[in-house]
Amino acid sequence: MSIVKNNGKRRAFPATPVTDLGDFENNHLYIKRDDLIPYSFGGNKARKGLLFFEEIDAGDFDTVVTYGSTRSNHCRVVANLAAERGLGCILISPKEEEDGDAPTFNSIYTSICGAKRIQVPVSEVHDTIEKTLADLRSEGKKPYFIPGGGHGNIGTRAYVNCYEEIRAQERELGVSFDYLFFASGTGTTQAGLVAGKLLHRDDILIVGISIARKNPRGRDVVTASVREYLPDEDPAVIDDNVVFDDHYTLGSYGTAGEAEKALIRKVMIQYGIPLDSTYTGKAFYGMQQYLKEHAVAGKNVLFLHTGGAPLFFDDLLAAGGRGDEK
Ligand SMILES: *Cc1c(COP(=O)(O)O)cnc(C)c1O
Repeated sequence: MSIVKNNGKRRAFPATPVTDLGDFENNHLYIKRDDLIPYSFGGNKARKGLLFFEEIDAGDFDTVVTYGSTRSNHCRVVANLAAERGLGCILISPKEEEDGDAPTFNSIYTSICGAKRIQVPVSEVHDTIEKTLADLRSEGKKPYFIPGGGHGNIGTRAYVNCYEEIRAQERELGVSFDYLFFASGTGTTQAGLVAGKLLHRDDILIVGISIARKNPRGRDVVTASVREYLPDEDPAVIDDNVVFDDHYTLGSYGTAGEAEKALIRKVMIQYGIPLDSTYTGKAFYGMQQYLKEHAVAGKNVLFLHTGGAPLFFDDLLAAGGRGDEK
């Protein structure tokens, strides 16, 4: 593995590995390990967060404000990047109905980084963000706001970069991927991948497996993000390329079914790869169902692992060593 030099504060990292998992549901499965991005347990929030902080480093800011739940991978990475620089970090969090204040590995991690959490009912999140930014400014501070999940053109660009990596890896491995599956939440990861595909006029089929949102909203948010990133692209072409599949949400955000849990255990044992029940486990399950239901066979399929290791450990702890998750 080559050494990737830091350019000042900028933290570069090598292309994340693509490994061959062999036969899977009548297809050939590969996995790209964005969970192995070497910063703060990696994941798509690390890929996005590192780009947001390039902008923060280039400007004049002393406090970072963002949004996310106590389980948020995004909040962990942002709190870590802010602490490293000695910047203040404020996390606006929705107050959840049950277990809202129960610590998670991600929330403990953000506290250790010194981030301050402000928890409010979901309906007050927007106003709380505005008020927090206004208060900081009136105290003479210079806050930078990162949208929840690293949404926006910077986050999209992070996944255009990932798409470029995938293309280079196809050439290195001598394989052409027919399908790309991953967990789609705010849709920024998907928007970047789709934008990358459109920039190259490739014909890989990109399927975002929704982990919570239903259509049309889920798909519309992805489409809007691609349009914002590629303002000159034909909107009809963008629409045709955004496949946001909401059939495998298994309830809502954070809920998991028995079949998903069994698959997570199987992937851990068979491949030594950790999946969590909120994001990557759901997406892997959705991919398996999709391949069966659409009778896809003989194709090269790439699963993009988007991270979430601390959530994997939350699941393990909830299982309490009894071999069955909560
Ligand atoms: C946030 C997250 C996602 C969803 O990414 P979006 O860009 O919001 O769609 C997927 N997987 C993991 C592990 C995440 O933390």
